[in-house]
Amino acid sequence: MGNFGHYLFRAQALDEKDNLSGFRKRFYIPENTIYVDGNSLGLLSMDAEQSLQRVLNEWKNMGIRGWLEADRPWFYFAEEIGEMAAPLVGASAGELIFTGTTTVNIHSLISTFYRPEGKRNKILADELNFPSDIYALKGQIKQRGLNPDEVLLLATSENGKTLEEDTIIEMMTDDVALVYLPSVLYASGQLLDMQRLTEAAHSRGIPIGFDCSHSTGVVPHHFGRWGVDFATFCSYKYLNGGPGCSAFLYVNQKHFGKEPLMAGWFGYVKEKQFDMSLHFDHAKSAGGWQISSPGILGSSTMEGSLKIINEAGIEAIRQKSLLLTSFLVELMHDLDLFSAHGFSIATPPQDERRGGHIALTHPTEALRICSALKNRNIIPDFRAPDTIRIAPVPLYNSFEEVYLVVKNLKEIMDNQEYLRFPRERKAIS
Ligand SMILES: *Cc1c(COP(=O)(O)O)cnc(C)c1O
Repeated sequence: MGNFGHYLFRAQALDEKDNLSGFRKRFYIPENTIYVDGNSLGLLSMDAEQSLQRVLNEWKNMGIRGWLEADRPWFYFAEEIGEMAAPLVGASAGELIFTGTTTVNIHSLISTFYRPEGKRNKILADELNFPSDIYALKGQIKQRGLNPDEVLLLATSENGKTLEEDTIIEMMTDDVALVYLPSVLYASGQLLDMQRLTEAAHSRGIPIGFDCSHSTGVVPHHFGRWGVDFATFCSYKYLNGGPGCSAFLYVNQKHFGKEPLMAGWFGYVKEKQFDMSLHFDHAKSAGGWQISSPGILGSSTMEGSLKIINEAGIEAIRQKSLLLTSFLVELMHDLDLFSAHGFSIATPPQDERRGGHIALTHPTEALRICSALKNRNIIPDFRAPDTIRIAPVPLYNSFEEVYLVVKNLKEIMDNQEYLRFPRERKAIS
């Protein structure tokens, strides 16, 4: 404990060298709080607040004319925001659309890309994925009159935390019709090698899609270069769009001719949508997979939010993110939190296998340690049974905050302060 100050100096030196430090003042940070939960719900920026205010005023002052006459016409909003986000994932013109919500987009994409034929009728996913994704896959399988117990293959994890690409690739057999995987695992923070998985699937003639909710905005992707067939991701984590903000949907241009089967009028060829024909002529772009009128109000934050992210640049964001997470792990090692207090880290140590958060595990007390941190106004989150997720976000967290998280964690453990908190979990933890 004696040389704690040394780490503070190092943190401050890292903050001084940090080219992104100026972005923090454009965010609303909850008062007296160290917020390290941006992988669950990102914070509001002033830029996002402004774009929301502008749209609210447009509705107030223009009524229906806003669809074509607003500053950013609402009718083209989903396409234009898709274009703004394209550099984050390496999408080309028309491949990315701002629409729906993650789970709805999964249904919509799977309904197009899952084409079971005879024995080739399996979907390959993994047992560590976010439950909603698996529910959607099972629902889609049942809709085809098939049995998920027979048709849904889940790659298993040896340690319950991470996956091996080799295991997944071995399961890409002749009877697999589709592969669907996460980019970053929501619990452990492992980043999968999407390029390698895509190449392996394609060499066996299998289409592959990804859920990038836990990576977009903090890890750069190159969907186009890698040849990813389709993807979706939410916008309220590292993209800071706000609770329940619209999601994004990506379709590789080689598939623009495929039919969106969860069809709706906003997927119609744009110039002819208001012809009101009963024959569905879908846009030959990711826009074809839109279903309903875009939720302009609740999603207008994304314009301001993307302005900041694009200004910072996704490569610079990723670099800082890796420095933040490796500093966190290094501090914990140096302060002996592992052997002395029973912590481990489920997140792979290698930069290229790590997303934006660190999954700290404790065999028995993770929930109560998390409660003790929150009681000290440090906000991570808990995922049952044993994981505390800490996400230092490059746009608004500092190295000094990482230092403070570890300092507080050490005090909580040294004093056994966590023993004062209940063992029961709230509805959201
Ligand atoms: C956050 C997240 C979701 C959330 O789904 P919604 O439909 O937006 O509520 C789904 N899947 C993954 C992998 C996520 O990380």
